[in-house]
Amino acid sequence: MTKPPGKLLPLVAALLCGAVLAQAATPSDHSVTSAAAPVTQTPSHGLQPGTSKRGEPSSTKQATQSTQSTQSTQSTQPAAKPAVAKPPADDWNLAAHGKVLYLTFDDGPQREWTPKVLQVLRKHKAQATFFVLGIQVAQYPELLAAERAAGHQVGNHTWDHKTLTLLPDAKVRQEIATGVKSKCLRPPTGATNAKIAAIAAAYRQRQVLWDVDTKDWEKPGAAHIEHAILAGARPGAIILMHDGGGNRSQTVAALDRALTKLTKLGYTYRALPC
Ligand SMILES: [Zn+2]
Repeated sequence: MTKPPGKLLPLVAALLCGAVLAQAATPSDHSVTSAAAPVTQTPSHGLQPGTSKRGEPSSTKQATQSTQSTQSTQSTQPAAKPAVAKPPADDWNLAAHGKVLYLTFDDGPQREWTPKVLQVLRKHKAQATFFVLGIQVAQYPELLAAERAAGHQVGNHTWDHKTLTLLPDAKVRQEIATGVKSKCLRPPTGATNAKIAAIAAAYRQRQVLWDVDTKDWEKPGAAHIEHAILAGARPGAIILMHDGGGNRSQTVAALDRALTKLTKLGYTYRALPC
């Protein structure tokens, strides 16, 4: 149900603005930007939709720190989670753990592709984070359970992927509140602003965008997606992919190949502390 993500690049505001708005109008679009970062309750750091965080390590860090206080209260973990390697609760200093990548998958769970993604992750002993839609979880609760049982983390991607920045406050609250319970929120298409950040904070949800946009939703070919993952890999990087919203065969193939190579380079894969 999801379509191509919108792209928001804050810095390039003027140009992208038009494009973003256009995409935002598509109800199911997805997001993406190149950047992102755990974001911000602090408007000044960034989080304007889309900034590319890759070149701005310091702002990312600040954004991370600014949100730490909001995370601390929720430490509920899924019950059946096996012992898996992942950062301590609330540890958002992602770049401090060496060659660790944070794989993220949006728009699921989805009947056909989520199990395939889970299978590849299992093969590579990788933990990941799934930013799920409430409407999908309602349809496939067993897949959400499977994600958690395998030690992955789950983040809120809202109820049904509306662009939050285009909604009145009450609707924004509804979209967030009806999504899966988590300490993390990834706003659809990455569209956010200070108001959305404040509302998310009121729900004790930290906004988490991404560093590397594989653009897998555009179905550019598995080789392209694989290259995006490999090119963006660096300690602490959050990588955006999708297990829902369309045919994800390219994503599954690219993930398998990329992890094979990255593991040989010494990378490991952890779930975000959501
Ligand atoms: Zn999405």
